[in-house]
Amino acid sequence: MGTRDCGHESAMSKPSAGEAGHTGDWRTQRPVVDDARCAAAKTEGAACFRCWLYCPEAVIPREAPITIDLDYCKGCGICAEECPTDAITMESEASADDGGTEED
Ligand code: SF4
Ligand code: SF4
Repeated sequence: MGTRDCGHESAMSKPSAGEAGHTGDWRTQRPVVDDARCAAAKTEGAACFRCWLYCPEAVIPREAPITIDLDYCKGCGICAEECPTDAITMESEASADDGGTEED
């Protein structure tokens, strides 16, 4: 019997941007990427992507140059902690500009 035939529904979900709403609304710090230091940007996507791997909100596509969906980034700073080249810095929302990241 397949899972569709058993009559039970699964409560499991898989991570995706936006399941908890606009988590970026309550962010106090935002990640800013310096492409000049980013291994993925410098190798045109051939290396690294640790930020993509470790981001708990899945808001960093596995693409170079690195972009971050600030609608859902919660500003946890894990990407900056895991970046081996210090290409990501956390800046205060009060003083940060939009350089190196994207937001609608
Ligand atoms: S700060 Fe970095 S790791 Fe945390 S949610 Fe935002 S992009 Fe993801
Ligand atoms: S972890 Fe740092 S160096 Fe690696 S892809 Fe992300 S921003 Fe670039």
